[in-house]
Amino acid sequence: MRIIILGPPGAGKGTQAKVVADSLGIAHIASGDLLRDHQERGTKLGSMARSYMQQGLLVPDDVIIGMIEERLHSSDAQRGYVLDGFPRTLEQARALDKTMEKEGQRIDLAVNIRVSEKELIRRLGGRLVCRRCQRPYHEVSSPPRKRGVCDECGGELYQREDDTSEAVRRRIQVYAKQTAPLIQYYYERGGLVEIDGEGSIDEVRDSLLKTMPKAGV
Ligand code: AMP
Repeated sequence: MRIIILGPPGAGKGTQAKVVADSLGIAHIASGDLLRDHQERGTKLGSMARSYMQQGLLVPDDVIIGMIEERLHSSDAQRGYVLDGFPRTLEQARALDKTMEKEGQRIDLAVNIRVSEKELIRRLGGRLVCRRCQRPYHEVSSPPRKRGVCDECGGELYQREDDTSEAVRRRIQVYAKQTAPLIQYYYERGGLVEIDGEGSIDEVRDSLLKTMPKAGV
């Protein structure tokens, strides 16, 4: 099972991708998490990606494509995966198709999570993320039980460098210009479903899981 989750920054891709991956027993591959992990480990790729990420810009296609292809070949991805945050440009989508074609595979389903711009700005403005398990919180609408501490794993909560208001605005613009065209790309090639991402986490999860049989998954 190979699934792509599309949607603007703040749509809840990470949260929902994790739910789907856990419920199908497949890998959750998040390009942003992989890049942040490179930064924490101080790799060359991580330091190269940092300035793009801080500004809310996309990391160059060749860097991302190489990183994801390596990840797709790891053993835990062989049963299938949910891709979260990749592809983000047409060039990345075409590169992914080409690699999969070579290996006799295909993407089974692309899910687009729709959320209005006003709601994205509200969500990202108050977002806190666990440094250890990546679980997201919101200062107002879903705060942790204990300030600054993850309910799930006790890890430290922090605000991402690219969740500042200027970077958020830039990320939304970049999404509209470079990533939104992927909706049409996957629509034309079949296997695209769209869901409303403005409900609660559980409501969005239910509509997402309902799309699986529709897509023959
Ligand atoms: P995310 O955690 O998915 O919101 O990604 C955070 C940042 O990582 C993005 O704003 C980009 O700077 C970078 N990034 C993540 N995925 C990609 C991608 N597929 N292509 C280019 N840049 C990416």
